[in-house]
Amino acid sequence: MSKIKFYYGNEVPLEMHKVRIVQKLNLPPIEQRVEAMEEAGYNTFLLKNKDVFMDMLTDSGVNAMSDKQQAAMLEADDSYAGSTTFTKLESKIQEIFGKEYFLPAHQGRACENIISKTYVKQGSVVPMNYHFTTTKSHIVVNGGRVEEVFKDEALKITSDDPFKGNMDIAKLRDVIETNGVENIPFVRMEAGTNLIGGQPHSLQNLHEVRKVCDEYGILLVLDASLLADNLHFIKTREETYQNKSIREITREIADLCDIIYFSARKLGCARGGGICTNSKDVYMKMREYVTLYEGFLTYGGMSVREMEAMAVGLEETMDEEMINQGPQFIEYMSNELMKKGVPVVTPAGGLGCHINAMEFVDHIPQSEYPAGALAAAIYIISGARGMERGTMSEQRDENGNETLSHMELVRMALPRRVYTLSQINYVVDRIAWLYENRKLIGGLKFVEEPSVLRFFFGKLTTTSQWQQELVAKFREDFGDSL
Ligand SMILES: *Cc1c(COP(=O)(O)O)cnc(C)c1O
Repeated sequence: MSKIKFYYGNEVPLEMHKVRIVQKLNLPPIEQRVEAMEEAGYNTFLLKNKDVFMDMLTDSGVNAMSDKQQAAMLEADDSYAGSTTFTKLESKIQEIFGKEYFLPAHQGRACENIISKTYVKQGSVVPMNYHFTTTKSHIVVNGGRVEEVFKDEALKITSDDPFKGNMDIAKLRDVIETNGVENIPFVRMEAGTNLIGGQPHSLQNLHEVRKVCDEYGILLVLDASLLADNLHFIKTREETYQNKSIREITREIADLCDIIYFSARKLGCARGGGICTNSKDVYMKMREYVTLYEGFLTYGGMSVREMEAMAVGLEETMDEEMINQGPQFIEYMSNELMKKGVPVVTPAGGLGCHINAMEFVDHIPQSEYPAGALAAAIYIISGARGMERGTMSEQRDENGNETLSHMELVRMALPRRVYTLSQINYVVDRIAWLYENRKLIGGLKFVEEPSVLRFFFGKLTTTSQWQQELVAKFREDFGDSL
């Protein structure tokens, strides 16, 4: 019988680990949080972590390691060439993915640099289920273009489609026919599609994509950064795979792909990344870029300690009890918020709980960054920081006009195995309170606006003194509570 769901009662997820090392947290009073937010220019990226109670900005490089990972780090073999640590990692990749050749790289985007440099040329078109920021940049920098072939369901906020990350096969064929197969260096499938809310693709869909790639003779590349969540969803949502082990599902996925790459900041709860393949030709083509940009072939810019942690982390990813933790907590958080009327993206995905700011603060026009304003308000009332995923994260067009985003989301990421259920309940309570008082939240405007990646460094201010009204109401309802 499948043990994939660990719940008690009907819907309370149960942690299948205990905490043995803790880090003290600081929850400054709301008056200090407003000051911190002001200093950070209403941009959650610019907050100092000492002022943050729960850091829900990202799941990248902040997942909790296991005791076994920490122990492995002590055994690391620090040699420049021929490190035993590398051999261990390479064998683990061979065992799990069934791929003979492994190229190490310092993180996910470094893999994208190597793959794009190798395959993307002026005029190349890369079809994919959805883009990721760094993926798209590397393809564009090399003269190529991204074509997204997602289903219409992908961009629907509320849906009961279990696989919103699937590719639309008809659209994929259409992109290949329209652009000419000679201009398609590879098709890219992203597991657990990050930017549409950690939404998975099905294994059946990957089989269909493979069929098209075979028909046209095109390489299939898998971005496996968020594979752990996707594996959990295949097992729990795709009937055919209910009785297969995570290891078997992983192998079936890997066998369908020519190249697999990943950010180990997410997959395997470590830091680093890598590319694997069974093609010696592909390996030889990419190899020189590893030595040019990353480091020697037996470390690729990673510390040996991280490589040890990664080998163990990848093995732990084959454990249902390990990979269910993130998705189950996210589902719990989304369900609890929905019970209180808060609009969230459904079905709950991996990576984090996504709040629909377009509806939460429907009185704020997109030109005043509703998701940015909501992320700032959430920090002010709870000390939890999430990430804006909306118009602030877009770039102005060449005439200086705003590019309005399809969606205005606030992502509250759940780093794997990091927060307890009572901490999640706390955030849910505070967000529910904010929802009751949502009309108090106002818009934002830029005071310092960089022309590229403005969401990282840009500074904003409130369009009125709404932050002070929020504090006053908070004090009225919560007394002198933090
Ligand atoms: C994070 C991420 C990347 C980039 O990885 P880094 O390690 O941050 O460079 C690529 N693809 C996906 C799907 C990701 O989530």
